[in-house]
Amino acid sequence: MAKVLVSIAKGDGIGPEIMDATLMLLGKVGAELEYDYINLGESVFKKGIMNGIEPSAWDSIRKSRLLLKAPITTPQGGGYKSVNVTMRKAFGQFANVRPVRTFDGFVPSKHKGVDMVIVRENEESLYAGIEYRQTRDTCHGVKLVSRTGTELIVRYAFEYARTNGRKRVTCLVKDNIMKITDGLFHQVFNIIGKEYPDIQQDTMIVDIGMARIADTPEKFDVVVTENLYGDIVSDIASQVAGSVGLAGSMNIGHGCAMFEAVHGSAPDIAGKGIANPSGLINAAVLMLYHIGQSAAAAKLGNALLYTLEQGQQTGDIAKDKSKALSTMQFAEAVAANLGKSPSSLKAFGAGSGQAVKLPRPQDTTQSIRTKRMTGVDVFIDFAGHDAQELGAKITQCGTSQLPLQLLSSRGMVMFNPKKPEQKPEVEAVTDLWACRFVGKEGEVKNHDIRVVLNNLEAMGLDWVKVENLYTFDGVAGYSARSGE
Ligand code: NAD
Repeated sequence: MAKVLVSIAKGDGIGPEIMDATLMLLGKVGAELEYDYINLGESVFKKGIMNGIEPSAWDSIRKSRLLLKAPITTPQGGGYKSVNVTMRKAFGQFANVRPVRTFDGFVPSKHKGVDMVIVRENEESLYAGIEYRQTRDTCHGVKLVSRTGTELIVRYAFEYARTNGRKRVTCLVKDNIMKITDGLFHQVFNIIGKEYPDIQQDTMIVDIGMARIADTPEKFDVVVTENLYGDIVSDIASQVAGSVGLAGSMNIGHGCAMFEAVHGSAPDIAGKGIANPSGLINAAVLMLYHIGQSAAAAKLGNALLYTLEQGQQTGDIAKDKSKALSTMQFAEAVAANLGKSPSSLKAFGAGSGQAVKLPRPQDTTQSIRTKRMTGVDVFIDFAGHDAQELGAKITQCGTSQLPLQLLSSRGMVMFNPKKPEQKPEVEAVTDLWACRFVGKEGEVKNHDIRVVLNNLEAMGLDWVKVENLYTFDGVAGYSARSGE
């Protein structure tokens, strides 16, 4: 078998200790790998490279497309960028995959029989980090959900389930509130799900879904969700399963796949040789499966489970602290157990994390036949509180093509030009107001919006943001306002 090139980042804090232990094991398990060592993290930040990645490291990762990464320390304070976020964006790592399991009877946890996989969309949603402040009082962020990005992650979750003999995929969304963004995620889940009739599928509202995961994590199998929800739910699941210190995770994309432990660089115990290398070893198991070296993956994973079963453990989890092993002693114990399988814990084997054929982005937008402009929401910075006074002014800024339909603040209707005498139900408390001008579907042009903007300016009003309103196959691509 040809050797597979892997870029190796030893990281910071306990990183070098747990990476040395992991590489020693990879050398003994029969993995066909060759390494290119790269520098990421604290030492690179200190050179003034704000994303923590040296130019030579980029070259290495672009060549290998595979990175095994120990945790790194992100310096406190402004300006520094998370290496993980940079990697995710630069290499199109659309999926973050985190297996969560319990080690029943061997590592303390309130739950038993947990064996779930969280598949988190990695590039979009509120995590895209698109934020603005355009008035003194108000900030807002953009929640970006694309059909293409959603298809990629949903298809990946179903493919992962099918390849690994998983029974169910659960989608977590909040589409009772965010009907357009989360609604799209849910809709795509339903459409793609039809291609996988062999897999059970359900959808939960994210808050109750998370509560159930905290309560009965053993009932979940594969969970697919958006970026921010996935970030939160993967920590909840790991915490309740008690496996934060032992878990590995992978970031998957077409440009590069990255494997790492879930925990951080643990500066408090760095250099003492006592860190638990299991998280990074589990990440290495995921990597071996990903590159198709399944026999070596299962051998390493099973030796790790057998060693934990034997009570050979590092100080963070050992019941009898006086018998705790150092990082290297633990790794040597795992090495001595290569070839053995756990007797009670679920062993690694077929379907434990087999490589999934990565879905390709597809142009699904062709299925939309018509896109028609209906109007515009113009946001203005207005510090006053009198909605009727403002509404009267803004009514005059509308045109016959694009008349004012309503004025809102924080999503609540504050003024309706058809009922100008009606006082709003709540008092305006912020300085960002949305003026919705709506014309005849399909007859509104960009020029009409420019006329309205000019009118607002002439009225001395400060417009700070414009959102065009469209329908797609007759369905409004914008949310209604409360109180409409
Ligand atoms: P942490 O996970 O490093 O440590 C939390 C606690 O868990 C500490 O008490 C630590 O001693 C213990 N711990 C963690 N891993 C352990 C292991 N393998 N064996 C034994 N004990 C272990 O979290 P933190 O203290 O919040 O973060 C420290 C640094 O790590 C920060 O700079 C943070 O930015 C960074 N970090 C990096 C990553 C990453 O590179 N993926 C992830 C999380 C945090």
